[in-house]
Amino acid sequence: MLRKCFPMVALAVLLSCLPARGAEGMWIPLFLKKLNESQMQSLGMRITAEDIYSVNHSSIKDAVVLFGGGCTGEVVSPEGLLLTNHHCGYSQIAAHSTLEDNILENGFYARNRSEERINPSLSVTFIKRIEEVTDQALRGVKPSMSAEKRQEKIRENLERIRKEADIEPWQNVEIKSFFKDNRYFLFVRETFNDVRLVGCPPASVGKFGAETDNWVWPRHTGDFSVFRIYADRDNHPADPSPDNVPYRPDHYLPISLDGFSEGDFTLVFGFPGRTDEYLPGIALEQTIVRNPIKVGLRDIALNAWQKEMEANDTIKLLYANRYVSVANAWKKWQGESLGLERTRAVDKKTAYEAAFADTLAKYPAMQQAYGHLLPDLYAAYKELLPYGMAYDATSEYNYLSDACALMGLLGRYRSLLGKQQADSARTEALRQQALERVDPRRITIDSKVFIPLTEFYCDKMPSGFLPQEVDAALEGFHGDMEALADSLYASPLLSRDGIEGIFAAKDTTAFDLLTRNDPTYVFFRSVVENYNRMVAPRYSEVSGRIDLLMKDYMKAQMEAFPDRAFFPDANMTLRASYGQVRGMQARDGLAYLPQTFLDGVIEKYVPGDREFDLPEKLIDLYRKKDYGPYGENGRMPVCFIATNHTSGGNSGSPVINADGELIGLNFDRAWDGVMSDMQYDAEICRNISVDIRYVLFIIDNDIPHLCLAVVTFMLSCILITRMNL
Ligand code: ASP
Repeated sequence: MLRKCFPMVALAVLLSCLPARGAEGMWIPLFLKKLNESQMQSLGMRITAEDIYSVNHSSIKDAVVLFGGGCTGEVVSPEGLLLTNHHCGYSQIAAHSTLEDNILENGFYARNRSEERINPSLSVTFIKRIEEVTDQALRGVKPSMSAEKRQEKIRENLERIRKEADIEPWQNVEIKSFFKDNRYFLFVRETFNDVRLVGCPPASVGKFGAETDNWVWPRHTGDFSVFRIYADRDNHPADPSPDNVPYRPDHYLPISLDGFSEGDFTLVFGFPGRTDEYLPGIALEQTIVRNPIKVGLRDIALNAWQKEMEANDTIKLLYANRYVSVANAWKKWQGESLGLERTRAVDKKTAYEAAFADTLAKYPAMQQAYGHLLPDLYAAYKELLPYGMAYDATSEYNYLSDACALMGLLGRYRSLLGKQQADSARTEALRQQALERVDPRRITIDSKVFIPLTEFYCDKMPSGFLPQEVDAALEGFHGDMEALADSLYASPLLSRDGIEGIFAAKDTTAFDLLTRNDPTYVFFRSVVENYNRMVAPRYSEVSGRIDLLMKDYMKAQMEAFPDRAFFPDANMTLRASYGQVRGMQARDGLAYLPQTFLDGVIEKYVPGDREFDLPEKLIDLYRKKDYGPYGENGRMPVCFIATNHTSGGNSGSPVINADGELIGLNFDRAWDGVMSDMQYDAEICRNISVDIRYVLFIIDNDIPHLCLAVVTFMLSCILITRMNL
């Protein structure tokens, strides 16, 4: 029955895979002209692909940077001023905060250049040029080669390409694989290590709504921060130095205060981190099984940390950065599972796979080459599942428990001693990390999390995977977890002196003498060792096989559906996602409007609340309706949603209008469509951005000094742009 109506189903499935009104996809800038320009223009874009990415003249790409390791930023002035999200600058803002000068809480604006704050480990990277190097990368690679030989050959080739790349002394090269290792691209980059904090709003604006509102629409967060890039006198990258001067970009983004309407074109240009759009259905099914393990463990830690943070301001600062990064993925995974279930993503994949199989069946050569792929992938995923669950449970446990992570660090020191490689730099780095973990405040909190975390971990480890030592310890205390916790956390290893003692050990014999009979070391090391012996090797072996199958499955999909426009999965390289400002039908009877206003911020206001408090000044401005040039018909726009296909890493990306002007900063996605990393659905996937008018309104009003400098500057840029037009 199903088989008979197949051609119709196949057509419908295939159509649903085609990019819906230009929304799906994270496109390589190099091919915008060929693949996307006409569709972008049909969606309203008035600039050209060449205005976005060009190697012949300055273009929008010259204003966009990879910010730190995992965000995007954009240059908005001829003197290197950079905008990104508040949550992207969060760790720098937190690092500059003390109880006496709490800029996280109160906000901060440098009143002059000398007040801008240096961030020792922050860098930004511009992309100067992209080249496809697939042929060179695969030269000499033969189908008959084993996976290892193939990898080795490719590695050799990439090394040569890197060495031979035609770059300036201040540039660097990165080569990345695309389409699951089927194609390779080279990026010529310029990386700047002197990036100073210029300003940020108070957390009550920049993080308004906090965890409750994260990943949710309607949204009212002023999620921005301001930095400045510094360069040497030749405008080239340089390490932080007082001699450096503000960077002069090849292009900076003009800002539009004109607003937009539903249906207007939007381009998000940035560095999406990781997506997996081409997986088989079973992988999505297993995501729904595995996510709750990670979510459950994080639930426990976050609840405990939050109580401690609320009770003590020092703890609040100490845990601020850790809390937000743990909470971000914790909430995302929940939305992702819900979205996959609600959109019946697995059923859609099943239908797609049926269409794929049917196409293969029509072409014997394809059937011969690719017919085994899906059955093999399904078999491999089945094999992976228990290891995947053990992998998730252990890596989260280790990530959330300081004592466990600490014993992991000590184990690494021991193996350096064993290989007689305990050279001072590596040892010192481990020692510093260990000392950080034994901060008595952290250890006290860790001891409180131990019982529920360990119980959950034991419960979720698939049968046969739990370390014997953990079992033995539980038995030894007859299930009395309190007594077990007391005994483990009494260890001298969980103190500064204990750590110094361990790092004074200069060989494995001395190390073993100090640790062998320590129950804490034995207990937590067993978690790590068990993972290293029982879980990780098999997990990576099966994952490696899956990767190889996915490489061929990707190629096979592209051959089976030659009319479908494929875009590569995100891999932290520069991509263009285009769409339109658009509300959505969230549920039966519930529609989302595309824009929020300050009225909504005030509606959510809860005085003194951890998440929904507001600065007095903002409430005052609202009462007076004093919005200056930023308001629209007597209201202050705050955030908006659009159909751009974005991911983590796109945080801070510029949202650019049809004329190439900045209208907002992308910072999140709406709950209903968070599964877009695995399956984009144009009906319900929406990216969330903060309106540039709200950003300027906040800067302009918070601390008049700097703000006047910055805003006057930005306004003059707007005027200059208008005059040029
Ligand atoms: N809020 C997200 C992040 O933290 C951005 C996204 O995934 O859309 O990276």
